[in-house]
Amino acid sequence: MVKRAIIDFNFLFEREAAHDILSEALEFPGYYGRNLDALYDCLNEYSGLIIIKNADFSVDSGYAKFVAKVISSADEANPNLSCAWFKGDIPQKNEYHKNLSRLEFVMTYACTGNCRHCSEAGKDRGFKLDGEAAAKSAVYASAVYDIESVMAFGGEPLIFAKEVAKIMKAAKNSGVKLRQIITNGFFSNDEEEIKKTARLLKRCGVNGVLLSVDSFHQEVIPAGPVKLFAGELISLDIPIKLNPAWLVSKTDRNPYNLKTFEALKDFKAMGIPEASGNIVFKEGAAKENLSEYFGGESEPINPYEQDPNDVRAVCLCPDGTLYGRPALGEEIIEAIAEYKP
Ligand code: SF4
Repeated sequence: MVKRAIIDFNFLFEREAAHDILSEALEFPGYYGRNLDALYDCLNEYSGLIIIKNADFSVDSGYAKFVAKVISSADEANPNLSCAWFKGDIPQKNEYHKNLSRLEFVMTYACTGNCRHCSEAGKDRGFKLDGEAAAKSAVYASAVYDIESVMAFGGEPLIFAKEVAKIMKAAKNSGVKLRQIITNGFFSNDEEEIKKTARLLKRCGVNGVLLSVDSFHQEVIPAGPVKLFAGELISLDIPIKLNPAWLVSKTDRNPYNLKTFEALKDFKAMGIPEASGNIVFKEGAAKENLSEYFGGESEPINPYEQDPNDVRAVCLCPDGTLYGRPALGEEIIEAIAEYKP
């Protein structure tokens, strides 16, 4: 079971008291040896998030500085442990983000597709989100905010599957319940690579895959590797849903939607259910290629827009920024703290 503990370093000055506090906060077993070696051993068995406050070593911190070294070493060695360190108290939530519950990670704008409806078309494809640093962003954000879901997308996120895995693993350690990716399912033609990637997603704790299947994707994405990948996810019990883009509305009988119904049939025959999907909105390539479908009475709006006074999801860009400033690792807390509508 994933745990979550808060340790106040102000109370770890004396050795005996420190081990009492650590043992209780981290729910160590009765045979805990109450020394630094035993602490390291127990931390190596720990699964979850440790939030450390008052970790200020610029002043004499007594035994706490030895504890800090052990926790840091265990954090590096144990993939199931994540730590968030704060020099002072745990930061307050930004008032406009008090309901923040979702973290989104745009891994890259690079893609194996080039869809005519793509809202991300024209964006710089040269960046790749640093998975290690973004994973720390997930940990710090989860330490301060009640994060319930994490989503990685792109571009095509699985071009950088290992980076995605680092973020998902950290989210799992931090107690984030829903860990999803949106993918077009095509990142390799190699059967072994496809299977390996599916297993990696299983290991790192991905528990939701939204597979983009519709007339637009199927124009440019080969179905074979996508079906192989989908089949692997099913065999590994990773929940997967089809996530089609509809033009105008799902009920509109335009040629694109009719082809989408056909494309979905194939995948539904594999037992994959359909999610609500989304409506193509006027941005990126869609603006150029599908202009005749926009301008009606109920023009679809960008579904990612939200109330600026009640931000519930934040999105890290491939260059590691949020709100136009660096947001990797602990900096995500600063980036959110500085936000004003
Ligand atoms: S719509 Fe998705 S798969 Fe298609 S080009 Fe854009 S990011 Fe890639």
